[in-house]
Amino acid sequence: MKYHFSHRRRCHITGGMLLLLCCVVLSSCTSTAQSSAASIANTDIATSYSTDLFAMDTVMTLTAYGTNAQTAVETSAEEIQRLEQIFSTNLEDSAIAQLNAHKTAQLPEDAITVLQTALQLYDDTEGAFNVALYPIVKAWGFTTENYRIPSSEELAALLRHTDVNSLIVNSEIAQLSDSAAEIDLGGIVKGYTSDQVMQIMAQQNIQSAVISLGGNVQTLGTKPDGSLWRVGIQDPDNPDECICLVEVADKAVITSGPYQRYFIGEDGVRYHHIINPQTGAPAESGLASVTIVSDSGILADGLSTSLFVMGPEQALQYWQEHRQNFDAILITTDRQIIITAGLSDCFQSDSDYYVFGEQS
Ligand code: FAD
Ligand code: MG
Repeated sequence: MKYHFSHRRRCHITGGMLLLLCCVVLSSCTSTAQSSAASIANTDIATSYSTDLFAMDTVMTLTAYGTNAQTAVETSAEEIQRLEQIFSTNLEDSAIAQLNAHKTAQLPEDAITVLQTALQLYDDTEGAFNVALYPIVKAWGFTTENYRIPSSEELAALLRHTDVNSLIVNSEIAQLSDSAAEIDLGGIVKGYTSDQVMQIMAQQNIQSAVISLGGNVQTLGTKPDGSLWRVGIQDPDNPDECICLVEVADKAVITSGPYQRYFIGEDGVRYHHIINPQTGAPAESGLASVTIVSDSGILADGLSTSLFVMGPEQALQYWQEHRQNFDAILITTDRQIIITAGLSDCFQSDSDYYVFGEQS
């Protein structure tokens, strides 16, 4: 089996809404992909319900189509608020805050599931995904917006307390054996949340739904008319615009990038919130953004952060080894766009791009 890059010329993005609706689902759809999905259109297009809410420090939009749309959306909004109460490190009574404060806590099933997935991702990514970085994230001020640049001595001292092996998770209880260790699931919880929302939608017999949790998109089924959802990906150098789009059904499309949360230091340097666990500093890996497309929201969220830390070469190698689970769009700091082979039929961009991993 041979892997290689193939160079694709730009392919004009159809649909006039593109520039306005980055990282959300684009409403117009004129692509060839819609015909392949048209046969499964069966949703009551007339009935739809949508709501916006602010949770997990971001704006979320939930939209469902079909008879139970309102109940499905309202139940989903309640579920998001329930999960925020469990996972927010900033809420004193949350399960994760209790774990951080007391180093041992009895946790609800949701927290055990997310922690176990996070530990698995730590192993799978050889430590690129590390939920024990919270002391470092705090030191940079990303939790309070009191931003500062920690000294290398301070980072070295804090790094000694970021060993994920100090976290022990059994069926109901989690413990931290290092009294200075703290857990932060901010890199994975929104993906878990969007999976949970999709389950609620399905339980309410919804066949067509789309949600955006602060730009993390997840879709159920196709659009009500049977065509694929069009999800725009932000241009990392100009986040008000899209640089490309993917057309999907039943997928999570989740992006990590330095432009999402950052500050400019007095030295004029941009410091962002995705941390290299080796150095404790913002990851400078040669990537400007990573988008993961997967059936699983939690995997897509965890991997978008992980592959950003890895950088392009290691990220593409990781994809080769796990290509059955996800596809990726990598945008490098020098603005090259690389997509993995599974996206080659559902990707559009006005820029040239490379397809990685097509078998010859
Ligand atoms: P992602 O790339 O998905 O995740 C980046 C985040 O993951 C970082 O912000 C950091 O928290 C963590 N991280 C950094 N490096 C790594 C790494 N190598 N491995 C693993 N994880 C890493 N923000 C507030 O300012 N105030 C709040 O009150 C607040 N409440 C929240 C409550 C919940 C339940 C959640 C899920 C998030 C909340 N946030 C809050 C936002 C949170 O702090 C993160 O900024 C956010 O989750 C980042 O998501 P992202 O999709 O932008 O980036
Ligand atoms: Mg993430």
